[in-house]
Amino acid sequence: MARPLATLPKAHLHLHFTGGMRHSTLVELARAHGVRLPDALATDWPPRLRGTDERGWFRFQRLYDIARSVVRTRADVHRLIHEAAQDERDEGSGWLEIQVDPSGYAARLGGLTPAVELVLDAASAAAEATGVGIGVIIAANRTRHPLDARTLARLAAAHAGHGVVGFGLSNDERRGAAADFAPAFRIAARAGLMAVPHGGELAGPPSVRACLDELHADRIGHGVAAADDGDLLERIAAARVTLEVCPSSNVALGVAATPADVPLRPLLDAGAQVALGADDPLLFGQRLTAQYQLARNAHGLSDEQLAELARMSVRGSAAPPAVRSRLLAGIDAWLSAPDPGGARPGPGDARPGADDAPLDPGGARPDPIGARPGALDARTGPGGARLDPGDARVGADGARPGGLSPQSRPA
Ligand SMILES: [Zn+2]
Repeated sequence: MARPLATLPKAHLHLHFTGGMRHSTLVELARAHGVRLPDALATDWPPRLRGTDERGWFRFQRLYDIARSVVRTRADVHRLIHEAAQDERDEGSGWLEIQVDPSGYAARLGGLTPAVELVLDAASAAAEATGVGIGVIIAANRTRHPLDARTLARLAAAHAGHGVVGFGLSNDERRGAAADFAPAFRIAARAGLMAVPHGGELAGPPSVRACLDELHADRIGHGVAAADDGDLLERIAAARVTLEVCPSSNVALGVAATPADVPLRPLLDAGAQVALGADDPLLFGQRLTAQYQLARNAHGLSDEQLAELARMSVRGSAAPPAVRSRLLAGIDAWLSAPDPGGARPGPGDARPGADDAPLDPGGARPDPIGARPGALDARTGPGGARLDPGDARVGADGARPGGLSPQSRPA
């Protein structure tokens, strides 16, 4: 037995709003709103998927659209984000970046701006209730017109520093050239938002390059295709661009044949920053801790290496400094606590951080929540989320807009 991964403090940087819904909630909301779910989302859940060809991707998107259609009211939005934050807390995650394309909800929620404001209100309430800090990423859709993306980028920019921390680009990267979305990303960058497009999931290294060259990505959603290109990987490692690797998603969509085929070790061995994410647990059946479990079981990563993955998730995040420090300290405490099985570090060439401590039998137990971000104002201004210069690429003024953290609580 090794250290429990649900108590390893971590940050979650790749979770979609609809895809983060609990399956039980999907079923309940469908019943409440009179939506008939296909078997793949009801009795045969989780669905068997394939995203590597047009038909399989179309089916995945169709199931996604059905899931989206059960979210109809303000209460539904609050419930989804509250439950997502509860699940994060229960999995040791102290910081969640949740990605939403408000276009899919605008019609039912009174328009784009009200939809975004509702998501931000819900995120603020959920952060307050659960102790998990939340940053919202507004994501445009690659299969829509680039002008739509500009509209969303303006909306994201208007809320930078008030809960929105990044701007993304999702859906089928085989359609919609990254360069077409460069103007939208420029709008977001001017507001200090992180650029976090999807790339290198369904398409190869050129797609990752386009995210770097055209969109100036700070992080890449997936990016696993970079493992096929040594020069690109070297560039990613040197620039400290974090790859949001989502093993369960890769396997479910056929991007990797088995968990062992997700190129986690090649990416880590090249020195790339990797943050594990669940992407769409509603469709893939596995949440965040399962991704760490998979890294342990399928790739043989030691607790030291898993702790370093957790550190990378924190360092690649837009979390405010106090949240980052608390999570990083919690990770050290997790590693210092005795290994319940007394197992020695697993095989493989660990690339331990400088602060890797030897196992300390008297070490502190980690806080079960991981790291409660306290003592932070819920509406941190742009100056409230200054990142360490070495940790992530920051805007010209060195500042990042803040996410939503709970109010300070009594000691
Ligand atoms: Zn995604």
